[in-house]
Amino acid sequence: MSQEEASLEARLEEQDTFEPPESFVEQANVSDPGIYDEFEENWPECWERAADFIDWEESYDEVLDESEAPTYQWFTNGKLNASYNCLDRHVENGAKNRAAIKWEGELGETRTYTYGDLLNEVEAFAAGLRDLGVEEDDVVTMYMPMVPELPIAMLACARIGAPHSVVFAGFSADALATRMNDADSEYLITCDGYYRRGDALDHLSKTNEGLTDVDHETTTVVVDRLGDALEHDLAADQVDYDELVDEHAGATVEPVTRDAEDMLFLMYTSGTTGKPKGVKHTTGGYLSYAAWTSHAVLDLEPEDTYWCSADIGWITGHSYILYGPLALGTTTVMYEGTPDYPDKDRFWEIIEKNRVDVFYTAPTAIRAFMKWGKEYPERHDLSSLRLLGTVGEPINPRAWKWYYEHIGGGECPVVDTWWQTETGGHMITTLPGVGKMKPGSAGPGLPGLDVQIVDGAGEEVDAGEAGYLTVQKPWPGMLRTLYRNDERFVSEYWQEYSDPDADEWVYFPEDGAKIDEDGYITVLGRVDDVINVSGHRLGTMEIESAAVGVEGVAEAAVVGGDHEVKGEAVYVYAIPEDGYEGDAELEQAVVESIDDSIGPIARPEEVIFTPELPKTRSGKIMRRLLEDIASGNELGNTSTLRNPDVVDDIAAQVDSD
Ligand code: ATP
Ligand code: MG
Repeated sequence: MSQEEASLEARLEEQDTFEPPESFVEQANVSDPGIYDEFEENWPECWERAADFIDWEESYDEVLDESEAPTYQWFTNGKLNASYNCLDRHVENGAKNRAAIKWEGELGETRTYTYGDLLNEVEAFAAGLRDLGVEEDDVVTMYMPMVPELPIAMLACARIGAPHSVVFAGFSADALATRMNDADSEYLITCDGYYRRGDALDHLSKTNEGLTDVDHETTTVVVDRLGDALEHDLAADQVDYDELVDEHAGATVEPVTRDAEDMLFLMYTSGTTGKPKGVKHTTGGYLSYAAWTSHAVLDLEPEDTYWCSADIGWITGHSYILYGPLALGTTTVMYEGTPDYPDKDRFWEIIEKNRVDVFYTAPTAIRAFMKWGKEYPERHDLSSLRLLGTVGEPINPRAWKWYYEHIGGGECPVVDTWWQTETGGHMITTLPGVGKMKPGSAGPGLPGLDVQIVDGAGEEVDAGEAGYLTVQKPWPGMLRTLYRNDERFVSEYWQEYSDPDADEWVYFPEDGAKIDEDGYITVLGRVDDVINVSGHRLGTMEIESAAVGVEGVAEAAVVGGDHEVKGEAVYVYAIPEDGYEGDAELEQAVVESIDDSIGPIARPEEVIFTPELPKTRSGKIMRRLLEDIASGNELGNTSTLRNPDVVDDIAAQVDSD
């Protein structure tokens, strides 16, 4: 490291707040700090600002109807179509030849769909779906990897008013069947296979296995992604996508008029806590919120090329690969494969090649990039970037600073966006052109949201104290219910802190958090992830952040394990960075860092170094299994893991110690 670099690193390490660069603020979509007061003073009418991003076929009567709270209704009696808003209106406004989707396959092939192309393809497929019998309000399931036919199918469904339910392609056959049964979904769009690290994966066999457990008749459309690389036969009730689209090429399908409160889609939560919930999102509120937050938080403009590296199978992909960016007329990049194929600089190559302006990814990916080293981004010109974002988990300050420095070149704000499948869009984050940033803290609640950190009795806690995250006012992007389970909707999210007799409703996302004097919120993780050591309640996320703050530690998971004396004890599972050994010296550094930032009460019982951590397919650490290992329990189900083998390896190591 040069002397200059070393002093820069030292300065970064010290610094705990960052101002957005002047050059960013000057061009930002939102740069007036007055926006917070403006929204508060004018609530709920302030949300017309979100609705204004939509072309309404018929304007709404009321911004908000609270009469059936907590099932709130937004933009009542407004009429619109989501596919019209994402396609036709841009074509009508002269953007026919602007790229809507730039897709890149893992092997390097590319496809660009202009807004005009995309509209044609969506209309042809919508006509095909109708031909197969799909009617308004039928739930259509999609079990597809990152191929362009996935967003095409979603928009085709939106066009004819058929809600989609996307099941992440990495999920098992069983997960597919459960979701199709739960939603009574009679139509499925899938594909023959896709590429992972250069190998052609067979997806159709897994689909067919799932279909055998579906308890009703189904019709399946199969996209041929792999061509000759994978031969497959279609069953009698299966239709080839290309044939269907060819047959309906040139078709005109008028967008169906949908009510603001009509369901746009159903999305099951990622299942980190074990029981996926069928979240219902509506057309008017969701689309307005996705567009507004894409504008205000992601700072998107129609001229931008934007890349979110999530999978469309998660809510992040729904809101911030598809609906938000396309509603604004932006160019959205889609990548099929993994970040380390053919080499660990694949993402930076995609950014350079497409001159990406705004990049949005997950902390788990950033920690992997850190582990691989800065030489990979250094191979590429990343100067097109203007803004960076993260989502999915808390980002620890060291990873934040690495991202800021080595990807953003110290010139791009970073938005750390806290939100959930249930919230539809961003909730807690800085506005990149307004607020200073504090690595490790997501920021304040967005304008118009009333986020409060409360204690067990529902009273607001003091700055610096840990409590429960709550949202005390509704917002347009919120879920309306859990599909066909209104009771669970209330018990899951509204029971804890609401006062139904007084008709006062408080949304509880089941995360813990703390707030500082500036109103900046640090999310501490799920409330279930609290460890009780000798009567002291410790947040796993805080201890994790201390562990990954150590140079040489790439990633860490902290869990509680049963302990005879303390009740529970802290166990740290850590991945060493490339070039470091998981030795006594590193262990000592981890212990000291935890001592310093939390105190000796949090001192780990054991630090276990491992090359990998058990992760769900959405990239979240499966703490439940690590708890079982630490407690010496029989291991639970590992079938939802991306890397089940790692569990046995870790367990063997803990036993042998
Ligand atoms: P399930 O609800 O089925 O267990 P899940 O909660 O992982 O799954 P998602 O809706 O995809 O499903 O994830 C939302 C959760 O992710 C949040 O509740 C929070 O715990 C975490 N999260 C997301 N973004 C952030 C962030 N920026 N900072 C901290 N935590 C975050
Ligand atoms: Mg959740």
